[in-house]
Amino acid sequence: MMTSRTPVLIAGGGPVGLALAIELGMAGIECTLVERRDGSLSVPKMSGLSVRSMELNRRWGIAEKVKRAGWPQTRPNDFLYCTSMIGPELTRVRIPPYVEKHPPFTPEPDCGCAQIFYDPLLLERVRTLPSVTLRHMTSLDSFEQDADSVRATVIDRRTGRSEIIEAAYLVGCDGADGAVATQIKLDYEGVGVFAESINIYFRSRELMELHDKGWARFFRFTDAGGTWGEIIGIDGQETWRLSVLRALPNHDTQAYMRRLAGRDFKYEVLSVMNWERRERVATRYRDGKRVFIAGDAAHQNSPTGGLGLHTGLQDALDIGWKLTAVLQGWGGERLLQSYEIERKPVAINNVRACTGEFDMLSQLPCGPEIEKVTPEGAALRKRWAEVFYASNHANMPMFTENLRLGYCYDPSPVVIFDGTPLIPFETKQFMPSARPGTRAPHAWLADGRSTIDLFGEGFVLLRLGAAPPSAASIAAAAETRRVPLTIVDIADEKIASLYERRLVLVRPDGHVAWRADDGPTNALALIDTVRGA
Ligand SMILES: Cc1cc2nc3c(=O)[nH]c(=O)nc-3n(C[C@H](O)[C@H](O)[C@H](O)COP(=O)(O)OP(=O)(O)OC[C@H]3O[C@@H](n4cnc5c(N)ncnc54)[C@H](O)[C@@H]3O)c2cc1C
Repeated sequence: MMTSRTPVLIAGGGPVGLALAIELGMAGIECTLVERRDGSLSVPKMSGLSVRSMELNRRWGIAEKVKRAGWPQTRPNDFLYCTSMIGPELTRVRIPPYVEKHPPFTPEPDCGCAQIFYDPLLLERVRTLPSVTLRHMTSLDSFEQDADSVRATVIDRRTGRSEIIEAAYLVGCDGADGAVATQIKLDYEGVGVFAESINIYFRSRELMELHDKGWARFFRFTDAGGTWGEIIGIDGQETWRLSVLRALPNHDTQAYMRRLAGRDFKYEVLSVMNWERRERVATRYRDGKRVFIAGDAAHQNSPTGGLGLHTGLQDALDIGWKLTAVLQGWGGERLLQSYEIERKPVAINNVRACTGEFDMLSQLPCGPEIEKVTPEGAALRKRWAEVFYASNHANMPMFTENLRLGYCYDPSPVVIFDGTPLIPFETKQFMPSARPGTRAPHAWLADGRSTIDLFGEGFVLLRLGAAPPSAASIAAAAETRRVPLTIVDIADEKIASLYERRLVLVRPDGHVAWRADDGPTNALALIDTVRGA
């Protein structure tokens, strides 16, 4: 059988596999990505990219394209709750159009962009990276690993021929129930499947002419039978995706369409997808020394909350720089161990938050009179709004960035903590922090870049404020251990006070590894810890 070799084999060319290929490719690491399909995508799953996901798109040089490809930048992003498109409005949660979003804590606001538009941009970026080999219509069949390598059998689906790819590492980005997770017999924690759902992707010009509610990106429906579904705008013109929270067996597509509109209307169904709504996280993210999983292969959540891909992209970021460090010879085994230790708790928080939003929607009051223009109807709608606004959904943490940006890799064997308390992610306001383990905060630099633009290649040591301490011992230790390190001086006192210390060491993924007001007593020990020696 033909055998080829690659340092990293990525199984699955969904957004997480592509993101990992970009991370490795931008660092010049050779890798091969096998994807069983042809690379085209016709079903819009993910519809919104979080702030952190957009920051990663900025890092990869595709943020501008993503903004243009997605939901029209001048259209509101509101969530509108109603009994049906022609029925009474229950409430509207206003979320401004993209062009009016200017959060102070990021250079990249969150952005509506469906997966059918997003994945091709990732693919296009991958194709610019010479160290990445892309193999579509090729599926991972099985693999075995020993101390030195992984030997994977892949099948060319066009010819049916099998071949061996030998790799130093295999990363399973092959989605829920993927081949890697199945072969390593992964166990999961979490409630598992909690609803059967259905997505109906459709086109209709008429839909927005049926009512006088104006544009929103999300319409959610509560009628006599409860809160049952939502439609999400895909192209901002005529394409929409209906998601039914709990689909009935033998469901009737036409009945769902009539129910959402409140009457018959003209539409064309583009696709129907049945899927399981799950809350689960793999108990381990690694098998043996050489096999890892990332993205939906490792965790699955209800889309209520928009955190699935958000979590997966950051898995790719985390395992990407760690594999790069090891393959470049300066990263140690503890770096690879830290992947699961850092990422799994974040996934657990995220999947639970998504189930929390689903439960909140399921528990909103309903009754036959909810759509009626009667005093009883008005009273029920008032009660609906009271329950809604008293819920976590309206308060915390779904609509704050703490969940998405404020998480901290604590514990971690490759972060040196400084005794400052952990910020709970449930707080209402996002509080940027440079506590070790967190994403180093954004601030605008004098030259127009963001501080986060400084991070990506190797470690960065920030010397902050007017008279920062010398970085010489850390620079010497990094050189001794061949750890790539750039030293950046930032005199701006506002940025110094945001980072709270005069010396801040930031990892290639933009997370703080260490900070202090004075140089370390043992710089070699510091560098050895953060490189996972
Ligand atoms: C209805 C819905 C709405 C969502 N909305 C959002 C949202 O708004 N925001 C958000 O962040 N997330 C959202 N998500 C979640 C998001 O779509 C997923 O988290 C994301 O697609 C996961 O990416 P992935 O690359 O890990 O897996 P996938 O997208 O599943 O990709 C896995 C890839 O692996 C390939 N593959 C599988 N087996 C093999 C094999 N043996 N060999 C080779 N290739 C293989 C598959 O063909 C596929 O291309 C939503 C999900 C759904 C279902």
